[in-house]
Amino acid sequence: MNAYSNHIFRHLINGRLESSEQWFDVLNPASETVVAKAPDATRQQLDAAVAAARQAQPAWAATSLDERRQVLKSLADALLQHAEDLAALITLEQGKPLKAARAEVTRAAEQVVKVAALPLENDLIEDTDKRRVEVTYAPLGVVGAITPWNVPVMLAMPKITHALYTGNTIVLKPSEYTPLNTLLFGEWFKDLVPPGVINILGGGRDLGRWISEHPGIDKISFTGSVATGKKVMASAAGSLKRVTLELGGNDAAIVLDDADPAEIAPAIFNAAFLNSGQICMAIKRLYVPDALYDDMCNALAEIARKTRVGDGMDPDTELGPVQNAAQAEIVAGILADAKQHNGRFLTGGERLPRPGYFFEPAIVADLAEGTRVVDEEPFGPVLPVIRYSRLDDAIRRANATQLGLGASVWSADVERANAVARQLDAGNVWVNRHVGVEAAVPFGGSKQSGLGCEYGIAGLRQYQQGRSLYLQK
Ligand code: NAD
Repeated sequence: MNAYSNHIFRHLINGRLESSEQWFDVLNPASETVVAKAPDATRQQLDAAVAAARQAQPAWAATSLDERRQVLKSLADALLQHAEDLAALITLEQGKPLKAARAEVTRAAEQVVKVAALPLENDLIEDTDKRRVEVTYAPLGVVGAITPWNVPVMLAMPKITHALYTGNTIVLKPSEYTPLNTLLFGEWFKDLVPPGVINILGGGRDLGRWISEHPGIDKISFTGSVATGKKVMASAAGSLKRVTLELGGNDAAIVLDDADPAEIAPAIFNAAFLNSGQICMAIKRLYVPDALYDDMCNALAEIARKTRVGDGMDPDTELGPVQNAAQAEIVAGILADAKQHNGRFLTGGERLPRPGYFFEPAIVADLAEGTRVVDEEPFGPVLPVIRYSRLDDAIRRANATQLGLGASVWSADVERANAVARQLDAGNVWVNRHVGVEAAVPFGGSKQSGLGCEYGIAGLRQYQQGRSLYLQK
């Protein structure tokens, strides 16, 4: 039993909480027991949500930016007001430590306000005696938003914010692994926006596909895996919907030979193992020069050994479980492949023999490209430490992947690090840090890590249709 066992989670459609014909179990990844049941939307319920969103959109678009800012602020306030309840539910269904869940809620609320403070102005291209050329921006209409299970509130709230701030309405589907938090805040949002402006539906991949195909939806904002992103893009092609895809990563971090392994190890460890490695822009490959190799491996292993793995509800826990059984299988397969290739496990390497999808954080040395742990996104608590001899070779290898979400360079000499950073092919490149999204800065991936971006003016523009106006004087 938990605080939500008897809670009836419902869809939010046209300002009303609606029940379902079918339900599915949502599991706690720390115990593999049922947290609660989630409603599974029918196609008719999706149609009703889309119709409501279409109907509500013109009046919503007619409100002023200031009014929309106020409404968005009220959503952020609702999250903060119920932060403890929401954080507890995130931990129950997602697994992360309660402290991290609280931080997710607070950060999501802050980002709502910061994104809705960005200026949304028309562009003036020319203003002469003869003519005025300007670009105006209108909402697209109805946004279909689909989110994954790793940081559910932190990923859903920006989609709501981008859509509503730019005058669109939204139909949002959270992951079937972690739908409860999103359905819960739907209950609080119900009376804070006009009916139909925000619609939230529980469901799985069928519902995701119906949303991607739906002729009444004008844009898809999707965050998830590369494989699903490609399917979404194909489904959306039928009505040539706009799509923003925030997909997977296999981020490289390059340590330069002047860095101090003991000093940088805590930040690197955190950026690799945050949320048990289940962060799209976590460090997933660490390139280290010969001279520092053993010291870097040992410094990371020392932190890994001290890190407490357990149920996120336990206040001592630093790393929770992997979120679901399928992901745990992927992680176990990648660990087995690393062993077959004679990877040297300084720590970890096994699933823990107890209920829940737990793994000790694994630091793996002596592997290179051609192994799954280096070539694929594990999305779990494992980091390969890869040796290099020449910096140009490390840069080439860091870039030699179809993914390009983030990358970083670590050095005592920031000028030198900045020069390397400029050579890394990724949507987000950092120096002496890794992981982070800022409201004013576009966030997106290069190559197969995504299409388009969110955040910043560029991110907001993706929810708008530009119109170039040639006015005569
Ligand atoms: P996933 O692709 O399996 O699922 C994501 C969402 O897509 C879920 O809501 C799911 O129900 C839905 N879906 C499944 N099949 C669909 C279909 N055919 N059409 C439409 N929707 C469908 O991803 P996941 O396992 O939930 O999340 C992990 C992945 O997400 C990782 O690869 C991670 O790197 C990536 N991710 C990316 C970012 C980013 O901003 N770039 C952020 C977080 C996670």
